[in-house]
Amino acid sequence: ENFPGDFSNNPMQRNTPKVLFATINPAGFDKPELIAFNEALSQEIGLGKFEDKDLNFLVGNNLPDNVRTYATAYAGHQFGNWAGQLGDGRAILAGEIINEAGKKTEIQWKGAGATPYSRHADGRAVLRSSVREYLMSEAMYHLGIPTTRALSLAFTGEDVMRDIMYNGNPKLEKGAVVIRTAESFLRFGHFELMSAQREYNNLQELADFTIENYYPEITSSDHQKYKDFFENICTRTANLMVEWFRVGFVHGVMNTDNMSVLGLTIDYGPYSMMDEYDLNFTPNTTDLPGRRYAFGKQGQIAQWNLWQLANALHPLIKDEKFLENTLNNFGTYFWEAHDQMLCKKFGFDQLRQEDEDFFTNWQGLMQELQLDYTLFFNQLVKTTQETNISEHFRDVSYIILNEEKLAKINNFIKSYRSRLELNSISQKESLAMMEKSNPKFILRNYLLYECIEEISHGKKEMLEKLTKALENPYQEIYPELAAKRPSDYNNIAGCSTLSCSS
Ligand code: AMP
Ligand code: MG
Ligand code: MG
Repeated sequence: ENFPGDFSNNPMQRNTPKVLFATINPAGFDKPELIAFNEALSQEIGLGKFEDKDLNFLVGNNLPDNVRTYATAYAGHQFGNWAGQLGDGRAILAGEIINEAGKKTEIQWKGAGATPYSRHADGRAVLRSSVREYLMSEAMYHLGIPTTRALSLAFTGEDVMRDIMYNGNPKLEKGAVVIRTAESFLRFGHFELMSAQREYNNLQELADFTIENYYPEITSSDHQKYKDFFENICTRTANLMVEWFRVGFVHGVMNTDNMSVLGLTIDYGPYSMMDEYDLNFTPNTTDLPGRRYAFGKQGQIAQWNLWQLANALHPLIKDEKFLENTLNNFGTYFWEAHDQMLCKKFGFDQLRQEDEDFFTNWQGLMQELQLDYTLFFNQLVKTTQETNISEHFRDVSYIILNEEKLAKINNFIKSYRSRLELNSISQKESLAMMEKSNPKFILRNYLLYECIEEISHGKKEMLEKLTKALENPYQEIYPELAAKRPSDYNNIAGCSTLSCSS
């Protein structure tokens, strides 16, 4: 089906030819209430300043006639299994807005009502999940990581029934809507759907559309064009995974319907930043005991997901050898880029032969001593000159470090310093590299938990503080927000682990 009408003069709309979708209006909410608005993003995408009259717009009420809203269909592999057709179940799109420089941005409401793709769910979102999406997507943006963004956060004034895992009983929660933005929300799943339905013409048009609009680096034609397309998606995805590893982001539900074809972080659900270093950490209770989406597996899982995308694009590329080689190259490319990234975190000039053993020893140390991933590197920056270093690391562990364990840290630091001596760059350059690669502030789950509690009691101090901190993650604006997770939070569900349903 073609997108109806001609909207060539309408900045909020553009045809997405023959991509399956359904026109649908937001539910409409009586008592919207503003929680947060991202003025800088609003200006940047061309929406201008926020005024009270726009509050209705933020929850999708009384939209101007020229805004025609829709939800798209996609498919996906969830937890390794083909899930068939899915779609925007609680996201409603308004097409694109164009800013003065001609840059186009897609806008969607998340939680503004059911769509034909909602299946048995209500199309609503609650305060908890909406605050998490709003703040974390912005935190990722300011960390310099490709991501969808968040424009606004508002209560709908409606209560929503949810089964909260930590008391076991269904409970009413306040409904909320986030407006998200992205260059495009296209997912692997959009291509999987076309392919599964054998709509190869649609598949080709969707690929052409995506290449033309979002892959300016591709200049080839015919079969080569689709090969380049797949290769570029692999590269962007690998780079994204490396960035997640750099800051300790665990997505938690890397199903193919949650994978952006543009290489953006998308769909903030049961994610978490990692506190204590643990390759097996998964924040998603639905992911236990399999731990498919654990921190350390994200590279492999991305590759598995790309495998599904390769299958979907096969009708356009028709070259199994090529697809297989490209997927194998993903592994090589990812690990090389991953190790280069670690080099920067440690302040090494370049990746050297002996660094592989060094990294393996470091991982063992982190895992055994339950050291905080972020604070470990911050301490490393601070201690490059001193001798009595282990003291600095006592407080960044989640266990009590006895003398024997502190000695292990001392030994590690010795090996670190002798590696630094091989550097062909100055100490100043090395430190500058470390400062750029190691955030001082990360949006930890316990901070989000506290912030959500506060907002639900009508307070906003924490929200304002977190917003300022996440906008400057490579500075230490609030030392108290840069601390490790307090031990009282260790066993509170919703602090380290979360369920998918929100
Ligand atoms: P997710 O695990 O959040 O990526 O969601 C998987 C699928 O379920 C997507 O198609 C969502 O749109 C849909 N979905 C999740 N929550 C809801 C909800 N409350 N109402 C309608 N659809 C939902
Ligand atoms: Mg999703
Ligand atoms: Mg979701």
